[in-house]
Amino acid sequence: MDYLEGLNPEQRGAVLQIKGPVMIIAGAGSGKTRVITYRVAHLIRSGVDAFNILVLTFTNKAAKEMRERITHVVGTEARNIWMGTFHSVFAKILRVEAEKLGYPSNFTIYDTDDSKSVLRAILKEMNLDDKLYSVNHVLSRISSAKNNLISWMEYAKNEQILADDNESRRPMMAKIYETYATRCFKAGAMDFDDLLFKTNELLKRYPDVLNKYQHKFKYLMVDEYQDTNFSQYLIVKKLAAVTENICVVGDDAQSIYAFRGANIQNILNFEKDYPDAKIFKLEQNYRSTQNIVNISNSIISNNKEQLKKNVFSQNEVGDRIKVMRAFSDNEEGKMVAEAIMQDRSTNGLKWSDFAILYRTNAQSRAMEEALRKMGTPYKIYGGLSFYQRKEIKDLIAYFRLTFNPNDEVAMKRVINYPKRAIGDTTIDKIIISADQHKLTQWEIITSAQMYLDGRSAGPVATFGTLIQSFQVVTKNMTAYDAALHIAQHSGLLKDLYDDKSVEGLNRYENIQELLNGIKEFSEREDIEEKGLDVFMQDIALLTNDDNDKNPNAETVSLMTIHSSKGLEFPNVYVVGLEENLFPSQMSLNSRSDLEEERRLFYVAVTRAKTKLNISYATSRFKFGTLINCEPSRFLDEIDAKYLELDYSAKPAASSFFENERQQWARKDTFSKPQAPTSKPSTPPKTTSMLAKAHIPTPGFAPSDTSNLQTGMEVEHERFGFGKVLQLEGNKPDIKATIFFKEIGNKQLLLKFAKLRIV
Ligand code: ATP
Ligand code: MG
Repeated sequence: MDYLEGLNPEQRGAVLQIKGPVMIIAGAGSGKTRVITYRVAHLIRSGVDAFNILVLTFTNKAAKEMRERITHVVGTEARNIWMGTFHSVFAKILRVEAEKLGYPSNFTIYDTDDSKSVLRAILKEMNLDDKLYSVNHVLSRISSAKNNLISWMEYAKNEQILADDNESRRPMMAKIYETYATRCFKAGAMDFDDLLFKTNELLKRYPDVLNKYQHKFKYLMVDEYQDTNFSQYLIVKKLAAVTENICVVGDDAQSIYAFRGANIQNILNFEKDYPDAKIFKLEQNYRSTQNIVNISNSIISNNKEQLKKNVFSQNEVGDRIKVMRAFSDNEEGKMVAEAIMQDRSTNGLKWSDFAILYRTNAQSRAMEEALRKMGTPYKIYGGLSFYQRKEIKDLIAYFRLTFNPNDEVAMKRVINYPKRAIGDTTIDKIIISADQHKLTQWEIITSAQMYLDGRSAGPVATFGTLIQSFQVVTKNMTAYDAALHIAQHSGLLKDLYDDKSVEGLNRYENIQELLNGIKEFSEREDIEEKGLDVFMQDIALLTNDDNDKNPNAETVSLMTIHSSKGLEFPNVYVVGLEENLFPSQMSLNSRSDLEEERRLFYVAVTRAKTKLNISYATSRFKFGTLINCEPSRFLDEIDAKYLELDYSAKPAASSFFENERQQWARKDTFSKPQAPTSKPSTPPKTTSMLAKAHIPTPGFAPSDTSNLQTGMEVEHERFGFGKVLQLEGNKPDIKATIFFKEIGNKQLLLKFAKLRIV
């Protein structure tokens, strides 16, 4: 049981408790995910068949990493564990069972864009005011109904919903939901929420199917349980009902998806659902320094609604948390980029040791620009997926039509791309005809001569024949051959090839990349079915990160805090700590929304292992105008003893910034600009990343510093001349505190510092 040695007694207890319901509620970094990983390894080592284990994770990437770790302990058997996100696991099950629910097994998965496209068409047909019935609002209402297992029929009947103050203004909601659901069904398509909604329907309507999966999944584990919604909760509960071998892990303080229907009550109800549940609490944080753990405890203690937890770290105390102030968003980017550059060279770190986390996607722009200017390699996680690019979606739409010709979104996308003289009027006619004759749009297309007038019938019929030819020709082809055939014969490849602009070239290369990916898939040896239909199955569920060709690349990671859940990095920069940004403006109306923002801040700071840096800007461009920003209230809430303020940024030489700077120079805390402050101004304690660069003495060469003594005078390549004040630690990790004339005190690790003894 060698592998159990990497666990503390509480963790080991949870790993060894393989029978019955188990819940682990614990703070960030306490090893919850590690427990799941070891538990699965332990189950397999104890003789449980990997096919009987189901693990639900927050991202596909998390599942992949977990599987790799388990493989280290149990070998290739780990391949057989069912592991992935709720969506990907249940999509797989629905493929097998779809026909019971009236769907083809090749059903299409509509991504959010596809759903919006269907809704937009419906709203237009119904002539509804697109302000009152905005696509985003309508989609989120439908999504929330589905996640609460309210079908369109129940929605229409549910007076509670209709009486809801806001919804009473939108009397057509029920009709929209009905039309949307019916249209998706007719198109043989499920949207993201359907993957859970329909799974529930399947398990409810077919007791034999439920029974089959209850016996298949004898052991269930769910990570990040605090963020499950009702629909997910019920699936898990049903599947676990026979064996009750269910283990969930979570942290109520990290529940950050209430806006998407996540329900913290799922954790609180676990003991009610399973009175025999064994509850484990993990209190030791292994991830972060004591300062980081203390600061995160102090943040979350401002929330009224939370389970009391005692979290401590036995790691080193660590540096204090650095707070940086910038005068604009661009300058914030520059400060962060320079700080990373400096920290990396001073302490011999890798780019991949750094992460920049932000509240909103828009903030990445300033960060990216600054990193690019400095030549720092970076990668944005959770951004627009490769599969969401226009040209990729176009080609995939042809694939989708080939396997599911009823897929209306795909049809609309490519019926006239590349151009085939099928105008919008003709497309409208197809839709109307289909409605009139109670046929599918595909049936109209394939019998165009019968339903459309002569002029438009010709091109439409040709299009139908083209898709039919794909269906026949690609039948026994490998995924790659089929994809290439479709790319060529649809005319899409040529259309992109003929576009010689830079963007055109780029799009052509993207298609090449997709085809390469499909080729790799065709050549895989670990799977039997290699048709294009199999390749297509989960494509809508893939995110940018799953398509990562080089996951271990040496790059700085950029992502929103929401997508950083569960991850960890040695050095973390949380940026944009400003009122109305973080906490976000939308959260300021209710305590519960504000508390969710605070939990988000807690998630952000708890990603850091060694160093945490927080920054804010005093002005920022928003919708094209420069606005003044106040520091976030979250900064006020942190106990100042954990902080180190770096207010030494030199603002850009504009009068606006100069005024700002002078105003700020008189202040020390985060109090709002107007508030008087009684504390004396705090001088910068650390160096400014923007301090004037030192030009080394001609012929500068680092000296051997093994005999460095306090009091000695030195020259540093970048920081200039200084005097050694203190040496601490043992070789080879001796740290020197040096007073540099230009920038003040600085701690350097001697083995990396380039110093010349003067
Ligand atoms: P989060 O709430 O952020 O998801 P978590 O509770 O899932 O955190 P893990 O990611 O499992 O925590 O663990 C945090 C870090 O601590 C990981 O690097 C993990 O390997 C390490 N760790 C956990 N337990 C131990 C242990 N007993 N010994 C050594 N390292 C540990
Ligand atoms: Mg975790």
